[in-house]
Amino acid sequence: TRVLLTGGSGFIAAHTLDVLLKRGHSVVTTVRTQQKADRIKADYKTETEKGQLSFSIVPDIAQEGAFDKTVISDPPFEAVLHTASPFHFNITDVQKDLLDPAIIGTTGILSSIKKSAPSVKRVVITSSFAAIVNPKTGNNPGHEYSEAEFNPVTHEEALQDAASGYRASKTFAEKAAWEFVEKEKPNFSVSTINPPFVFGPIIHALDSLDSLNTSNQRILAAAQGGWKDEIAATGTYVWVDVRDVAEAHVNAFEKPDAAGKRFFVVAGHFRNRDIATVIGKNFPEYKDKLPTDSTPGGDYPEGGLKEVYTFNNKRSIDILGLKYRSFEESIVDSVKSFQRKGL
Ligand code: NDP
Repeated sequence: TRVLLTGGSGFIAAHTLDVLLKRGHSVVTTVRTQQKADRIKADYKTETEKGQLSFSIVPDIAQEGAFDKTVISDPPFEAVLHTASPFHFNITDVQKDLLDPAIIGTTGILSSIKKSAPSVKRVVITSSFAAIVNPKTGNNPGHEYSEAEFNPVTHEEALQDAASGYRASKTFAEKAAWEFVEKEKPNFSVSTINPPFVFGPIIHALDSLDSLNTSNQRILAAAQGGWKDEIAATGTYVWVDVRDVAEAHVNAFEKPDAAGKRFFVVAGHFRNRDIATVIGKNFPEYKDKLPTDSTPGGDYPEGGLKEVYTFNNKRSIDILGLKYRSFEESIVDSVKSFQRKGL
C-alpha cells in the first residue's frame, strides 16, 4: 500500500516507519527539515534507493494548507498515518505551541486529503489516553477507562498549564477529526490510536540524550541517579511499549474492521518504582544510582493498585490483534537503546 506518514522523525513514528517498510508498504514521510530527512535516509539506504521510502518537508503543521502539496503523490496514497503533534512541556504559549499544531495539524491534513487525494481510503491518527482520561477524577478507583469516554477538558482549563494544554491538545484534535468525518463525509474512514505512557527503545535520530522524547525521560532519570533520594510521582499509572503502538497504527489501516474506531492501546499498570526495580535487576552497573526499597515516592496511592482506575484494552486485542510486550522487556530495551546513545 502507498502510505503517507507524518512526523517521521519522532519516537513513535520511527517505529511505525520500520513496521511499514518491513511489511513492504511504499512510504512518503514528512519531516520538518532536509537534515532530518537525510538522517532517516541514512538508516534506510536500500529502501530509499529502490524508491520504497521518500520524504516531504513540512516545516510546521500549524500552517494553513501545510499538507496541500504533500498529499499529492504518484502513485497516489491509499492510507495516511498522522502522528506529528507536539509532545513536550517546554512551551511559552499553550495556544500557539500545543493547541494550534495539534488541532490545525489534524483538520488541515484531513482537508488536504479530501480536496486533493481522493484515492485515500483510510486515515489513522495518533491520539492519546490524554483524550480519554478525566484528570479531575484523579485516581478514580473502581473506574474502568475505555474507548467510550472523552476527556471533558474545556478551552479555559486547557490554558492553565502545559500539562493541561497537552492533554487538551490531544482531546480537541481527536474530537475535531471525528467532527470532520461527520460533517464533511469524506471518501475515507478514520481510526485513532490512544496510547497512555509509551516506553521502549529509541530508534530515531537523536543529537544527544538531552533531547530524549518526553515519555522516556523518566527511565533515563532513574538510570542517571535522579531518583536516588526520592522517586518522582507516577501521575499516570498505565503504559504501553512503542513497538506495540507502531504495530497498532499499521494494523489499523490494514484491517477493514478497524475503520471508524478508537483504540485504547494499553499493556498494563505501572508505577515509577517499578522502572527502578527493573533497571536494578537487569543492569547491576547502575546500582549506585538507583533508589532502594526504602527510598520514598514512586508508589501506588495508599491502599495499592485497587485505588487506581482499571482499563479495558479488549478492542485492541480483538480487532488489531495486539499481543502486548511485558514491562520488563520494554524498560530493558529502552535502557539498552540509551546506552547506544552514550548512557
Ligand atoms: P516526539 O516528540 O518524538 O514526536 C513528535 C513529532 O511531531 C516529531 O516528529 C515532531 O517533529 C513533530 N511535530 C511536533 N510539532 C510539530 C509542528 N508544529 N510541525 C511539524 N511537526 C511537528 O514524541 P512521540 O513520538 O511520543 O509523539 C508522537 C505522537 O504520539 C504525538 O501525537 C503524541 O501526542 C502521541 N502520543 C505519545 C505518547 C507517549 O507517551 N510518547 C502517549 C500518547 C500519545 P520535530 O521533532 O522535528 O519537532
